[in-house]
Amino acid sequence: MFNNYQRSADKLITNLRAQGVQDEVVLRAMLNTPRHLFIDDVLKHKSYENTALPIGQGQTISQPYIVAKMTEVLRQVGVHDNVLEVGTGSGYQTAILAQLFDKVFSIERIKALQWQAKRRLHQLDLYNVSMKHGDGWLGWHSKAPFKGIIVTAAASSVPESLLAQLDDGGAMIIPVGVEEQILTLFVNQGGKITRQDIAAVKFVPLVAGPIL
Ligand code: SAH
Repeated sequence: MFNNYQRSADKLITNLRAQGVQDEVVLRAMLNTPRHLFIDDVLKHKSYENTALPIGQGQTISQPYIVAKMTEVLRQVGVHDNVLEVGTGSGYQTAILAQLFDKVFSIERIKALQWQAKRRLHQLDLYNVSMKHGDGWLGWHSKAPFKGIIVTAAASSVPESLLAQLDDGGAMIIPVGVEEQILTLFVNQGGKITRQDIAAVKFVPLVAGPIL
């Protein structure tokens, strides 16, 4: 299944290393995850390009570099279990998280994308993910607190309810902004939240509105 794509996947990993991704554990998970399974047939030939791609419903699968970077940052700050993802989308980032963190929770507002993602994760024998169809602005109160929160859509302002669901020592990585978005890291140190800018990025918006 993966063989036809192996060379492209190898090249992608070389590319990510050249871009500065250093965490070999993250790189190995990415090498072992068939990104083409998360992409529609007409775009499959682009599966291992280092770009975001459309996944339908006006949404995109994130750029591999961004997936690697966000995952690396969470691990660097010591997050190892209990991670909440907001914006399941294709499920690709979820699949990477599921291999690296003991327990993963993921929220998506578009039911059709959520179902498709769930099928793909099962196809890859990844069963440590709990999914919720709902509004990620609110987080997942009954499962909180989380050691890590990763938001894969851009929030126009910092979602306070997500910060409130961070465990002591926990960290949230999230793009903040509308036109100009900054990937931002928040860390909860004994109830005190610190904030650090990581990079300029471009994500689809974290929608405030009804779930679909
Ligand atoms: N990590 C995903 C990114 C998908 S794009 C991937 O690589 O495939 C962002 C996703 O966030 C979209 O699927 C979109 O529907 C979802 N989203 C946007 N606003 C949301 C909200 N308020 N609550 C939950 N999901 C949301």
